[in-house]
Amino acid sequence: MLREVERHFDLSELTQQQQLLADLGSIDFLKAVLSQSGPFGRVAAVSSFGAESAVLLHQVAAVAPQTPVIFIDTQFHFDETLAYRDELVTQLALQDVRSYSIDPLSQKRLDPARMLHLTNADRCCHARKVDVLTRALRDFDGWISGQKRFQSSGRAGINRVDWDDERNKWKFNPLADWHSDDLEAYRIEHGLPHHPLRQFGYSSVGCAPCTSPIAADEDPRAGRWRGTQKLECGLHRNPNIIAASVA
Ligand code: SF4
Repeated sequence: MLREVERHFDLSELTQQQQLLADLGSIDFLKAVLSQSGPFGRVAAVSSFGAESAVLLHQVAAVAPQTPVIFIDTQFHFDETLAYRDELVTQLALQDVRSYSIDPLSQKRLDPARMLHLTNADRCCHARKVDVLTRALRDFDGWISGQKRFQSSGRAGINRVDWDDERNKWKFNPLADWHSDDLEAYRIEHGLPHHPLRQFGYSSVGCAPCTSPIAADEDPRAGRWRGTQKLECGLHRNPNIIAASVA
């Protein structure tokens, strides 16, 4: 049985690691983060297998295909997302993809009719994503996210090395400074498939009831929770508390 990891925030250590890793390309960055002998301990990748997931997963697989990859199965994913997950797992030969979902007791208590997303999306996301991720990461010291700064104004302040202050773990965003053109060039160069819904105007793919296609001039995440004030599911608390961070 693995221990539950307990880490404590250390601003000087965070700043030091941000500086050390600042100039590394994403592959070398991942090598440093995933190094067995490095300072970060056990690190998992977290992926929604969404519209922009393939590049990060390809790089993780290239560096360390045995890296645990956590998939939060909200039980509201598009069938296309589940098929895409299976396709990428096979193509990239990812060795340790782990699916986590809301536990049956919480489901019964919080969302017995599976309608919570219609009345309180924040609570639904918390139960089906945030709490589930916290449980999935219990045995890890840090996690890798595919967030990019260009995706939304709320993500513009993320750092490549961050601190997840809610879970007290490292958080890494190797592609923070990538743009959509970079992702597309990499995808083509490495023969990575598009998410099947991209062709229908879905530039960001989350749960089926809460995701819609976007127009050409919209923010990439405009199709998420359309018509509401909600912008994020709550997995990512960015920008974080680190006032002295160096991007
Ligand atoms: S995106 Fe929608 S369905 Fe998915 S967890 Fe959040 S509120 Fe629930």
